[in-house]
Amino acid sequence: MPSSALERFLRYIQVDTTSDPESKTHPSSEGQKELARFLAGELTELGLEEVNISPESVVTATLPASAGFDDVPVIGWIAHMDTAPGTPGRCTGAKVLTCQGGPITLDSGTQIPESSYLRETIGSKIVVTDGTTLLGADDKAGIAAIITAAEQLLSDKSLEHGKIRIAFTTDEEIGEGVLFLDPEQFGADWALTVDGERTGTINRETFSAERAVLTVEGVDIHPGAAKDVMVNAVTILADILCGIPKELAAENSCDRQPYINVYESTATIAEASAQIILRSFDDEGMEKVRAALINTVNRVRDENPKAKITLRYEVQYRNMREKLDERPEILESLEEAVRRAGIDPVWVPIRGGTDGSVLTEKGLPTPNLFTGGANYHSTTEWLSVEGLEAAVRTLVALASSSAKKG
Ligand SMILES: [Zn+2]
Repeated sequence: MPSSALERFLRYIQVDTTSDPESKTHPSSEGQKELARFLAGELTELGLEEVNISPESVVTATLPASAGFDDVPVIGWIAHMDTAPGTPGRCTGAKVLTCQGGPITLDSGTQIPESSYLRETIGSKIVVTDGTTLLGADDKAGIAAIITAAEQLLSDKSLEHGKIRIAFTTDEEIGEGVLFLDPEQFGADWALTVDGERTGTINRETFSAERAVLTVEGVDIHPGAAKDVMVNAVTILADILCGIPKELAAENSCDRQPYINVYESTATIAEASAQIILRSFDDEGMEKVRAALINTVNRVRDENPKAKITLRYEVQYRNMREKLDERPEILESLEEAVRRAGIDPVWVPIRGGTDGSVLTEKGLPTPNLFTGGANYHSTTEWLSVEGLEAAVRTLVALASSSAKKG
């Protein structure tokens, strides 16, 4: 008796796969190893081939092409096993209920706030937590959708399809998702991360991301004798951070606007530093936030000639749109597959990155598909069962329609 995507999902979320940014190991947590072993066992049992667990617990497998469909382009299906640090990840209090709209009061008293998505889902089944943990739809819903779609393709021989490669990655939430997935080795022509949100949404566009490290070197001396000698890195850093235009702060930015986010800082009189991220969908926006930061630093530097102020940049990832637009046939087949699943596709830009941004950059075009989830990384996370099932139908439609075209 085949399992439904929902049954699978409810099983996976009970394994605590919280990733740990402080860990020096790969994967960063034991629970990810446990889930990797479980998933590899399940894939083997279903009859997938080349099932492998890498030393970093990345699970890969192959769904072989139907007879006569070996020439069809290979599609990759990717989801991540870990959940976000900061919210407990072992979800044992999940409940399936019929959505009546919001707000929804969870067992702990926490409320899922009203939203247009909840309203749209009225009358359908949703999965919620008891309010003490996250749900794990991000991204165990993606894993459940992928395995269920593979099972359907294997069991229904009338669904002819090309070869599918599957990867379940680790530590996506701490930025290491595709560190151990070599696109060359993976061997797909293009791929799909099943790591999106609201039912029907597909993503071909992410932020471009830069990180800046700002350091201020001061001069420390006993405050009683500080006159004209002390250079206070604490206050100089504060001056810079307060000088960044407020309208460019992440908390004041939405839609397609770029932002600057200072997310960590330490300071003593002798030395102070801040970690800053810059995000924008386009070069123009990136120029704007970069210039705002540099201008502020330059002004404070002029006012404090005895302090040594440095600003270092690193590019983290690029908006995948540029490269994906070079392969319109991929985007068209994805859109068409969502439609064949009975859902209206909506392209939504992601105000963040996905594994796909890095993979696309590395030459494996990888747009992103919805799972039906919402409110990720929080105790109010929830999942539309209909959305999850629509993701399964989309994957099956994609595999079989690509085969027809091939
Ligand atoms: Zn995710």
